[in-house]
Amino acid sequence: MKTLVINSGSSSIKYKLFDMPKETLISKGSIEHIGEKGSAFCDHYSGLKTILEKFDLVQAVGHRVVHGAEKFKRPVIVDNKVIRGIRECCDIAPLHNPANLSGILACKKLLPGVKQVAVFDTAFHQSIPDYAYIYGLPYEYYRKMQIRKYGFHGTSHEYVAAEAARILKRPPGKLKLISCHLGNGCSITAIDKGRSIDTSMGFTPLEGLVMGTRCGDVDPALVTYIMSRRNIDVRQMERILNKESGLKGISGVSNDMRSLEAAAASGNKRARLAIDIFIYRIRKYIGSYLSVLGGLDALIFTAGIGENQSDVRRDVCRGLFRYFERKPRVLVIPTNEELMIARQTCRLISPGACK
Ligand code: ADP
Repeated sequence: MKTLVINSGSSSIKYKLFDMPKETLISKGSIEHIGEKGSAFCDHYSGLKTILEKFDLVQAVGHRVVHGAEKFKRPVIVDNKVIRGIRECCDIAPLHNPANLSGILACKKLLPGVKQVAVFDTAFHQSIPDYAYIYGLPYEYYRKMQIRKYGFHGTSHEYVAAEAARILKRPPGKLKLISCHLGNGCSITAIDKGRSIDTSMGFTPLEGLVMGTRCGDVDPALVTYIMSRRNIDVRQMERILNKESGLKGISGVSNDMRSLEAAAASGNKRARLAIDIFIYRIRKYIGSYLSVLGGLDALIFTAGIGENQSDVRRDVCRGLFRYFERKPRVLVIPTNEELMIARQTCRLISPGACK
């Protein structure tokens, strides 16, 4: 089954075409600058039309959708009810869900009759228990405004957890895992018996680890303090927390770990400090998830930094398992969110044919 996986962002569409269930990658690519001045693509429809012209046959489409809130606990075949549900989640994911939805609507028009599946970044984390996802805020904010921890990168964490089980030759239901997805966005997840039981990102992807340009955990009182001291509005503050903080904000050099390591090696102290803070925060989360899990079979590293930056992995792991009688395995597993989406799509559309 020729399965097209679409990751539709606000101004870009990334795609991969797989032959399922063989899992052979047939083609991949991306288009950018959608809707920007001078671009060849005025909207997602025209972008997808150009992509689809490359292929004679598409039999199924899998879409990455960032936010499924509590509505979507697993991947679903897209119908009008699902479209309404994704639209309702736009309120709490205004940066992502509208673009994901544009991709779905464009495919619906361009590929009438071809089944589409929505795979949610948040779905894997829907198994997190309430005592871990409710914030210490008035409870009615949860009931009336859906304010709770959701977690993101779920497709990646689920994929690497399945790979870990395969590598360790043990059933997922018997494993305790901690997976560190360290890219530009970073998150860490505690996985018990194949289910996410806690994760570092929260209501938005801003919570948790220090990331490329996102601050991660800070004292919430700082937000209003900075706004009043600097006389800035909500939009400016959001931009500072999301785009001007993290590795970039601390170092003043870059959000890119490769550049930071080079700068630190040539004596830049703030670059060194940014890396140290990044690593320290990861170690703190691993420590807390060790106690939540009550044991560990494997620590997994994935995504750009996790897969490629061995110095970061070494520093994160230094002395971490000193008191363990049976040392956990440390695994580097390249993530493949698109393949995971293709698998989920295939499983739903052609059950029995896909693993
Ligand atoms: P994104 O979250 O945008 O998908 P990536 O997973 O590509 O991000 O990770 C980007 C981070 O990984 C950057 O900090 C970059 O420096 C680091 N990195 C290190 N080595 C590589 C590599 N070979 N390819 C891509 N990113 C790398």
